[in-house]
Amino acid sequence: MRDGSNPKPCRLPDGRLRVRAILGRPFDALCVAFIVLGMSRNPNRLPSQERGVTRILLVEDDQVLARGVVAVLRDAGNAVDHVAFGGEVDDMITTEPYGVVILDLGLPDMSGLDVLRSLRRRGSKIPILILTARDAVQDRVAGLDAGADDYLLKPFDTAELEARIRALLRRGNGDPSPLLTIGSLSLDRASNEARINGRIIDLRRREAAVLMSLATRAGKIVPKERLAAEVFDFDDPVAPNALELYVARVRKKLQPDGPRIRTLRGLGYILETPGA
Ligand code: CA
Repeated sequence: MRDGSNPKPCRLPDGRLRVRAILGRPFDALCVAFIVLGMSRNPNRLPSQERGVTRILLVEDDQVLARGVVAVLRDAGNAVDHVAFGGEVDDMITTEPYGVVILDLGLPDMSGLDVLRSLRRRGSKIPILILTARDAVQDRVAGLDAGADDYLLKPFDTAELEARIRALLRRGNGDPSPLLTIGSLSLDRASNEARINGRIIDLRRREAAVLMSLATRAGKIVPKERLAAEVFDFDDPVAPNALELYVARVRKKLQPDGPRIRTLRGLGYILETPGA
């Protein structure tokens, strides 16, 4: 059960910042509380084949829209944080490893365009998808010129939003194909399906996020803190050993003929193909 309305013990060395961030944003804490209520109504809503994709920052001041988008993106396996003010974005981007930012252009404290320009000026290459009103052609053009990677017109279909995010991630990885193959393991980032030698493996939401994160950097060490930050968002209930448990479950599900997850004590995890 999520408990976003209360500050809680944090999982990372920068935990102090997390608590302060939640406390300092009563508006967002309220928003999180709504999401908590919504999610808790049906705890069995997650299909077993859902796959983790990435950690997403949503910058949107329309609370109703934001709640819906957060719920849909989380349901698809993403870790999602939401802020309503442009002034919060810099801090969030600096401290958390977001894969995509969804940015509304009309924000209460500053223009989304200024947020975008500021990020690009500082050299951030993070994929940014802007949300604009249907009639705001100038905004759209200005957004793309200022370094946005894609845009979506409000109101939008959440399936299209998800598809655009997946496309941005693939482009960001320099890999336009939705299929990721590591030895006998294949991950389809579009359909969210994982197979070993053609056999579908049954992964829960966070397990899939763990596998996706390790698989996109197969053969390379993924530090534990980095993995945790990609898999969990601020509202996840994170027990101290939660990540280890998820990794252990994924490791088991990859057996006997899938790639192996090796633990490097004090360093992190690495996904390897046997014999490689
Ligand atoms: Ca707005």
